Amino acid sequence: MSLIVSKFGGTSLASSKAILQVANIIKEDKSRRYIVASAPGKKKNEDTKVTDLLYLTYDLASHDITFTDTLDKVIKKYKEIIDGCNIDLDIDDFFAKLSDELKGKVSREYIASRGEYLNALILSKVLGYDFIDARDLIFFDNDGNFIESKSYQAIEDMKNKHEYAVIPGFYGENLDKKIKTFSRGGSDLTGSIISKGVMADLYENWTDVSGFLSADPRIVKNPKQIEKITYSELRELSYAGASVLHEEAILPLINDGITIQVKNTFKPQDKGTLIVSDSAKKENSSDITGISGKKHFSVINIEKIQMKKDKSFYRKLMSVLEVNRIELEHMPTSIDSISLIVKENQLASNYETIINEIKTFCSPNDISVESNIALITVVGAGMKNHVGLSAKLFSALAEANINIRMIIQGSSELNIIIGINQDYYEKAIDVIYKAFIN
Ligand code: ASP
Repeated sequence: MSLIVSKFGGTSLASSKAILQVANIIKEDKSRRYIVASAPGKKKNEDTKVTDLLYLTYDLASHDITFTDTLDKVIKKYKEIIDGCNIDLDIDDFFAKLSDELKGKVSREYIASRGEYLNALILSKVLGYDFIDARDLIFFDNDGNFIESKSYQAIEDMKNKHEYAVIPGFYGENLDKKIKTFSRGGSDLTGSIISKGVMADLYENWTDVSGFLSADPRIVKNPKQIEKITYSELRELSYAGASVLHEEAILPLINDGITIQVKNTFKPQDKGTLIVSDSAKKENSSDITGISGKKHFSVINIEKIQMKKDKSFYRKLMSVLEVNRIELEHMPTSIDSISLIVKENQLASNYETIINEIKTFCSPNDISVESNIALITVVGAGMKNHVGLSAKLFSALAEANINIRMIIQGSSELNIIIGINQDYYEKAIDVIYKAFIN
């Protein structure tokens, strides 16, 4: 029998009705043995996620402002779930203790983690599976770095003792035995880590959409669903803005080539998206898998005649960015010039200092800054050996009268990134979609 790890996101576990639907899905296939649960998310758009309510509760408590109304909303949510699922679980003591803890010296991360803790406990009761606390499986050092060997060993030991189990997502424990959470959306990472630890045949990620779309549906009408995508393609698309999975979720799976399947809890019959290793052959590989992008970049254009003669030029330039804590997104170059593409808000926070330091240390002939830049990434593993693809891309944009400010292509030839004035962002995505996918 194959082994599946199934992670269910917040919307999939936001009400008793949704949880019972999840239980049906899990029970349909005996291979679904290790279940990772998020905290209850939003039932309706105007709802607040339990994790956000817990953060707010902590913030109120830490400012000595009454937090009971906010905590009551959390309690009400869980009571509805417990009643609707018809399970025997008394949470009064749990919340009385939490309320006391909030008056003392607990951490914000600990309070936030209680959302997944309790939801996983509930799901384990609904299913009749063992409950395993994530703090016994996922470990961090005191700087917050995930400790691979200790965690994977603990997960393997857990597998040998428990045939079926539910595990809370989002958190683990550090060496001081304090709760440490991942960044937001981190239950996806828990699912990946558990999948690697038990050497799953498949990691199912159940959410409220039917997988990845080939373009943003707010821009392109009814974009095509992506049925199959490689790890690297997905990294490029997620980096550029597509957000269904946590950006780092595939990292633990790369070495073993474990496949992820993104599925929709509310439309389980939909195919979803399969995320496969780069070496797994893509049948029907089309040229372009997806398009995504982001706005709000700035470009620092630096001109320096005979730049390459100054052997320390790049080092000094990078040092300015490093000292001012600026992340470099891209760096297209030509013989006598170089452009640094950075996030607008990072540059804005220290604009004068950065420009002055570049002038002082790198002695450019000219330096200028352009803002309101959008980057659009066109991704496709199939574009590698395809002649004429960029011609098609640039002609489509030219016909739409969109001026391309810069072109970046990584050596992997997995994507082409174009920089344009962000006023044309939506139009450009639509034009590219029509040229390639539709
Ligand atoms: N509940 C956490 C969040 O809202 C973690 C997760 O859902 O993945 O970010």
